[in-house]
Amino acid sequence: MRIDLHTHSSVSDGTDPPAVLVRRAHEAGLDVVALTDHDTADSWAEAERAAAEVGITLVRGMEISTRLGHASVHLLAYLPDPTYPPLARALADILDGRNDRVPAICAKLRSLGVEITEDDVRRRAGDAAATGRPHVADAMIARGVVASREEAFATWLNPGRPAYVDRYAVPLEEAVALVAGAGGASVVAHPWGRSRVLTPDHLERLAGLGLAGIEVDHQDHPASVREQLRGLAEDLDLVATGSSDHHGLGKVDHDLGCNTTPPEQLERLLQRAGDAASASGRTTPALLVP
Ligand code: AMP
Ligand code: ZN
Ligand code: FE
Ligand code: FE
Repeated sequence: MRIDLHTHSSVSDGTDPPAVLVRRAHEAGLDVVALTDHDTADSWAEAERAAAEVGITLVRGMEISTRLGHASVHLLAYLPDPTYPPLARALADILDGRNDRVPAICAKLRSLGVEITEDDVRRRAGDAAATGRPHVADAMIARGVVASREEAFATWLNPGRPAYVDRYAVPLEEAVALVAGAGGASVVAHPWGRSRVLTPDHLERLAGLGLAGIEVDHQDHPASVREQLRGLAEDLDLVATGSSDHHGLGKVDHDLGCNTTPPEQLERLLQRAGDAASASGRTTPALLVP
């Protein structure tokens, strides 16, 4: 049983449309795949049809942009009701912030001598619901400014680099409560990856607020960090997941299934989502089994 619980389609900053992503997941030998686009459920409908066609189990999810102080923390949400009004409002606010940021980044780049227009970025984003810095990076690649998304982030777009612009994200504790209220299960994504702001104390506090799990096996975590996080998950009775964080061609070394979640951990995660759904009284998306 091969299970990958974190992937992105072109509805956010992945490069494959949802149906293509689901087909590729099946071809990669996965039995279960979760689609977790940034801050939106817009990819679900297309993914559902493709999953039924190829015969793969689909977990409907999303990766919510949250904030702890000034630091960015990503929160994976599995099987939440995206129409739960407080969650829908938070997602709309985040998407507005993403949209408003595009012209601001372009203006900064132009003031630095890089000729990029908002139209360039919108073209690269296509019909993505969640526009992001990766689309700005793609526009820079198309103009020959940089060779890769990696280079665009390192040179221009990361915090502390000259074209960085901040945007709205939901306070982390509020986001955990929103996911629970929407009847879903939340998992902190790559907590000790590029930025490491969450302490064991933070995680313990979040567990008390209803956090269901920690993403342990992720490409941004070296082996020693994975073992520390696995121990912490055990101590805090949190689910330990493993996933690719696949972005199609948008991120190297994140192939589908490069990390996987053990079946017993998925069982626990689904149990947590089921408990949250019962407590919330919301009609939540079921696990889609072929
Ligand atoms: P944004 O959503 O606009 O805040 O951009 C952050 C997203 O860009 C992250 O969620 C990653 O998916 C992606 N990302 C961050 N750093 C890199 C990088 N060095 N190369 C490629 N993609 C990146
Ligand atoms: Zn992404
Ligand atoms: Fe992330
Ligand atoms: Fe991600």
